[in-house]
Amino acid sequence: SEVVAFQQVSKVYNTGTVALSNFHLSIKEGEFISFLGPSGCGKSTALRMVAGLGEATNGEVKVFDQKPLDVIRNSNDIAFVFQDANLLPWRSVLDNVLLPLELRGGNKKVHKETALRVLEMVGLKDHLKSYPRQLSGGMKMRVSIARALAAKPKMLLMDEPFAALDEITRQTLQMELLEIWRKEKMTILFVTHNVYEAVFLSTRIAVMSARPGRLSSMIDVKLPSI
Ligand code: ADP
Ligand code: ADP
Repeated sequence: SEVVAFQQVSKVYNTGTVALSNFHLSIKEGEFISFLGPSGCGKSTALRMVAGLGEATNGEVKVFDQKPLDVIRNSNDIAFVFQDANLLPWRSVLDNVLLPLELRGGNKKVHKETALRVLEMVGLKDHLKSYPRQLSGGMKMRVSIARALAAKPKMLLMDEPFAALDEITRQTLQMELLEIWRKEKMTILFVTHNVYEAVFLSTRIAVMSARPGRLSSMIDVKLPSI
């Protein structure tokens, strides 16, 4: 079933910049879809709109058949991972993952079990008490992914999450992300300007054109089975 719909969306910033133009795309449950294109073609703009960050100038974005902001307000169905891991430096790895769970209230013991489960999933169960400054870039990104997964989102939005990492770390995290996607059966929307990354990771690639914010083609990818 359809989880995201861009319906003839245009986005013009108040500076006059056209970021998206007549953008039309339907995303189905369980897809791992990459938005691929050169810098400035509107990839981040499109992804941010799915999270309710920024309204369409024309057309409409629907998530689970609702307005994105309503989904964000009423559920934990959407989680966002940015290029910068955005960890709180004064909180340990475990406490960084626990924070969003605690903010929502509920049972502390259950939250801790959840946090431990997702930290194990990203290979950090031996680093629970470490602080962000003690971690490599790749490990920080793993914490950021664990924090997003802790909320059990139906959809994960990722904006160039691995762009700042070295090549080896990036490849490792790409493989780990594929395993997580297979295990958790989420829908993933992934922004990248890296062709290899898009081909390796996704089931479908939305190629965007530098003529601002136009879809130039859709490519189906058959992922290797692990
Ligand atoms: P990409 O993610 O593909 O690099 P963006 O969606 O970030 O592209 O940006 C698309 C275009 O919109 C670019 O020209 C960018 O400079 C512009 N843009 C992005 N955000 C804003 C903003 N908040 N205000 C004005 N212009 C913006
Ligand atoms: P990305 O690496 O995701 O493409 P950008 O560098 O395009 O990010 O944008 C980073 C932030 O700056 C975003 O919040 C975006 O909305 C804002 N931004 C980008 N371009 C402009 C612009 N031309 N004018 C104002 N804000 C912008």
